[in-house]
Amino acid sequence: MTAPAGPERLDAFMARANCAYYASHDPFADFTTAPEITQVFGELLGAWAAVTWQAMGAPEPVILAEAGPGRGTLMADALRAVAKVMPAFRAVLRLHLVETSARLRAAQTGLLPGATWHDRIEDLPPGPLLLLANEFLDALPIRQFVRRGDAWTERYVTDGAFVERGAPPLRLWGRADARDGETVEINAAAQDIVAHLATRVAATGGAALFLDYGPAESAPGDSLQALRDGKPVDPLVEAGTADLTAHVDFAALAATARAAGAAVHGPVPQGLFLARLGLFQRSGALGRQNPPRAPALMQAAQRLAEPDRMGRLFKVLAICHPAMPQPAGFSA
Ligand code: SAH
Repeated sequence: MTAPAGPERLDAFMARANCAYYASHDPFADFTTAPEITQVFGELLGAWAAVTWQAMGAPEPVILAEAGPGRGTLMADALRAVAKVMPAFRAVLRLHLVETSARLRAAQTGLLPGATWHDRIEDLPPGPLLLLANEFLDALPIRQFVRRGDAWTERYVTDGAFVERGAPPLRLWGRADARDGETVEINAAAQDIVAHLATRVAATGGAALFLDYGPAESAPGDSLQALRDGKPVDPLVEAGTADLTAHVDFAALAATARAAGAAVHGPVPQGLFLARLGLFQRSGALGRQNPPRAPALMQAAQRLAEPDRMGRLFKVLAICHPAMPQPAGFSA
C-alpha cells in the first residue's frame, strides 16, 4: 500500500488501510463474527426483519439490504428463516448488498444468487427499506482528537507513527468532556451513514438494525485496534495487512439519527436482544433435531449472549420510521 507524501489524517489512513485489507485478505482468518459462530444469529435477524416488515404495513416491494455482508452467511441464514416463517415477505423482498470488496462480493455471490451489489449505502434504490449491518460500523474510518491544555490537536499518521496537528474548531466536530492528554474519537463515516439512513427511513419508511461493539455512553478514549492472524498488532505498521476497527459510539449515532427525524430504539446489549428473539429456544430446537450438534449449538448461543463474552460489549441499535411500533427485541 503506497502512503501519500506527508502526514495523512487518521480517517483517510484507516479508509485506505481497510480498503487494501478487505481487497486482499480473508478477514475471517483474522477474526470471527456472530453469523460464523452459529446459524441461529442470521435466522433470528431474518425473523426480526419479517416481523418488522409486517409492522411497516407489509409494503410491496420492499428492499432487504445488508451492509458489509462478509461471507454472506448472515443473509443466507436469514433468507432461509424468512422463507419458513413468512413466505409472503420472502416473495416480495428485493435483496441488495453493500460491499466494497470484490473478493467478498465473489464469496457472497455463491450464497446469495439474485442479489444486487452497491459500493455505498447511498446508492441503494429508493423505497421502503430494511437494512441489517453486523460488525460494519466498526470498520469505518474514525477521527481522533487529543486535548492539550485548552487547545485540541488532531491525530495524523506518518511513517507508521502518530503526529498531532492543530484541530479544526471544536464546534465543527464535537464535545469537550476530556481531560488534558485524553483522546476523543469521532465515528465520522458512521455518522454520515446513520444520518443518511435516518433521513431516508423517516421519509420513505423502514428500519435499519446495527449490531456492533462499543459502549452505550460516549466516553473519551482510544479504541483503535488492529488484528492480524487473530492477534492484536500496531494499527499503524504495515497498513493494509491487518483489520482496523474502533468502538462504535452508539450514543452519538442515536443522537444523529434522532436529529435527522427517525425514531431510535436501543442501544440494548446483544445478549439481551438475542435472548428476547429466542436464541436459546431456537438453539435448543435445532439441537433436538440433531443431538450430536446440541452441545456446540448451546455453547455458540452462550458465546453470543454471556455478558463477559459477546453479550454485553456488543450492542444493538434500531433506527426506524417514527410511526412504527417498538421493534422486537428492544423491551421485555
Ligand atoms: N457482517 C459480516 C462481515 C463483517 S466484516 C459478518 O458479520 O460476518 C466487515 C464487512 O464490511 C466486510 O464485508 C467488508 O468488506 C465490509 N466493508 C468494510 N468497509 C466497508 C465500506 N466502507 N463500505 C462497504 N463495505 C465495507
